[in-house]
Amino acid sequence: MVDDNPKMFRRIFDAQYPSCQSVCDRFPRTTEHLAEELKPSATGLNSDTYMRLVSGGYCTVCGIWAGGPPVSSNLAYRLCGQHRCRRQLCTANYTREYRCISAKTDFRLKPKPPGAAKHFLPIEASDWIPYLDDLDIRGHQLRVLGNGRYPLRDLEKTWEDLRFFVPAHLRYSRWSIMDITSPKGHQVVQKYREQAKRYHALESIYKSLAESRMADTKLRKCIKKSNLAKLREVALEREVPLEKLQDDPLVQRILAAHLHDLAHVYLATFRDLQLPGQQPVKTHSPQSSDAEAVSETSK
Ligand SMILES: [Zn+2]
Repeated sequence: MVDDNPKMFRRIFDAQYPSCQSVCDRFPRTTEHLAEELKPSATGLNSDTYMRLVSGGYCTVCGIWAGGPPVSSNLAYRLCGQHRCRRQLCTANYTREYRCISAKTDFRLKPKPPGAAKHFLPIEASDWIPYLDDLDIRGHQLRVLGNGRYPLRDLEKTWEDLRFFVPAHLRYSRWSIMDITSPKGHQVVQKYREQAKRYHALESIYKSLAESRMADTKLRKCIKKSNLAKLREVALEREVPLEKLQDDPLVQRILAAHLHDLAHVYLATFRDLQLPGQQPVKTHSPQSSDAEAVSETSK
């Protein structure tokens, strides 16, 4: 039960991830197909399964525990935060560029042997193949939805399942699952249609999580900049280089803690600091600090 895991609940609360109920309200048609164990309770509470899904799991690349929500639109892939894992997931060992399917070109089943024939997935494949949108190996910023990569194992699985049912004359050109005519092929197609419904249900959660993370990233940047500006102001008042204050362990702890909590640092907090070899800058009374606090929280 949720109450048995207060730490997990706290983590979701702190991160301000969207509740499953809010996702269902926003995407009523697709979330109908969510697995029962993921759906919110009758009173709108997150299920234990949903909480676990968004709060953490194991890194797809290295296998160590990774806090935070999944990075793929089917909620199956995670990253631990190490840059090398992020980089690995962007290689052809794990993923292919998004345009593989959207452009309906250049998907080869295996990278080896060199020169192997290129096979095309059906035009409907993006209805069930997940994407990893927030991977940017040049930085750690979330990217705009739609600029991602496809997991290789999902691409290969689709091809393995459908390859024997593709009409021979269509194998190397654009084709649709509607072109499959054999009864057994129809069964497989039906399986993928059902899979597409479940996939779009999970994608609804993913989109909401990704948007929440993007908003969080923007806010984090804004707060970081604002807190640094205040520190710069105090550095000017003390007539010391900003870098000197930034090097102080206490200042670093204050900046990190406020960034973690997405909170603005009071100017008075920096002014009152007792740093080695320096006098605190006492230009504000406690009353003015309170006024500043009200002003900051109203921002
Ligand atoms: Zn990892």
